[in-house]
Order: sequence, then structure tokens, then C-alpha cells
Amino acid sequence: MFDYHVHSLFSADSKMKMEDACEAAIQAGVKEIAFTEHIDYFYPNCDLTFDFDYTDYSKAIDAIREQFKNRITVLKAVEIGIHPFKHTENTQFANLNFFDFIIGSVHLADDLDLHNGDYFKGKDVNQAVENYFLTINKYVKEFHDFNVLGHFTLIKRYLHFVNAHWTEINWSNYDDIVEDTFKTLIDSSRGIEVNMSGFRYRIDCPLPDLPFVKLYRDLGGEIITVGTDAHSKHFVGKHLQLGYEILEKAGFKYVTTFRERKPSFVPLANII
Ligand SMILES: [Zn+2]
Ligand SMILES: [Zn+2]
Repeated sequence: MFDYHVHSLFSADSKMKMEDACEAAIQAGVKEIAFTEHIDYFYPNCDLTFDFDYTDYSKAIDAIREQFKNRITVLKAVEIGIHPFKHTENTQFANLNFFDFIIGSVHLADDLDLHNGDYFKGKDVNQAVENYFLTINKYVKEFHDFNVLGHFTLIKRYLHFVNAHWTEINWSNYDDIVEDTFKTLIDSSRGIEVNMSGFRYRIDCPLPDLPFVKLYRDLGGEIITVGTDAHSKHFVGKHLQLGYEILEKAGFKYVTTFRERKPSFVPLANII
């Protein structure tokens, strides 16, 4: 298995040592781990600064590779927070530094945080969900420097701010916007991830789950990764198996791995 979304202490919201993450990953049967640290150049009303020193990070990865060689493959990676005012900075960060793999994620909409609930103020459920999908649709057309779109349907984790639960929503109502988003990604050799953090947030649902993963596949999507989004060692490698089963049910025969931001395809039969 491959855990393609892990945050070490180079991310402002994680205290996990890379060494502990690698030990936990090996215990869970993970063969490749990508340290996808946060870069978010715009994050309002938050005490944390989502930035990291690439040189220090890169040295730390080199050291951990040496320490764990022959036990686990470690990738240099980043999770870029996409924001319309920050495309230039994000492009520079992506291209001036070396990465094996880049996740592009949307954590804010209307410049407001999903996580702290600011985004949901004054919106009903449909307005919140529709606007979230439209925001992502716009951003993936404006910003291209990533390999997979992070945790699509992240909004499911925060619907309690509008007194709703993801199971109450007819997600196919948004298929037109979502199809256009997926086609944009597919046409530009980008993909999506299946993010297992929904289990940490007790919504018991991958992001995205089977219907959207299948829609992506049916549209011709091939590039897809699975990651835990772990911020502590207890979640490294957790629920990956379920993620691969969703890929298989959606019609995928392969999962994607990356080196130097170039995709390779590993048969699911080899890892499930
Ligand atoms: Zn994220
Ligand atoms: Zn993350």
C-alpha cells in the first residue's frame, strides 16, 4: 500500500516526527509514504502559519531516506492550498523546489475557512455545497501546478455548521459542475486522490466516495492516489485498504505513484 498524504511536523498543524510516521507506516504495511506538507499562503483568522522551509524539509527527507532505506520509499511532496490571490506564489513554490508529488487543495471558499465554520455563515446547505463545487471548478482552471486535487468533497466534514449530514444530500444534483471539474483535470493530465480523513472526522466516508470516484473513472480519469491525510502516527496507513477497494469498485485496475511529478501505474491486484 502507498500512503500519499501525510503531514509531519513540517506542517503547522502536525507534531508528528517523520521517523514515527515511517515506523507507523511500515507497521501498517505501507511501502511508500509521501510527506505532503502544508503550504497555504492565505489563511485568514488562524493562529497557524502554513509555510515551511523547503531546504530544511528536503534535508530531513534525505536523512529519513537513509535511515529507512530498504524498508520504505519516502517521497518529497507538498499540499498546496489553492487561492486566487496566490497562484503566482504557489507556482513559484512548486517549480523552484524539487517535489516527487504535489497535491492541490481547496481549504477556503469566498476567502472564508471551512474548518472554523466562517464559510457557512448566512448560507443554506445547497448554497454552501454548490458554491464550494463552483469554487473548486474555478480554481482548477486557474491553477495547474499539482498532480492530484486534494480531498474533493472536503465540505462533508463540516456540514454540521449548517445542521446537516452528508448522507442527507443528493450529491448527484451537482454532477454537471463536478463533471466539468473532472474533465478539466483529466484534459490536463491531473487527477484526484481518495482521502481517508473522513474516518478521523467521524463521518465514515472517504473524500470523495464511490459515486464521484466512479464518475471520474467513467469520464476517463486514470490518475488517482489514496492517502490518509494523517497528522499523527495513529492514522498513518489507516483505511487505505478501503480506499483501494473503492478504486476497484469504480473500475480502476491501477493506482498511481509518482516520481519527479511523473505518474506510474501500479496494478491494484499487486497491493489489495
Ligand atoms: Zn487539506
Ligand atoms: Zn492534508
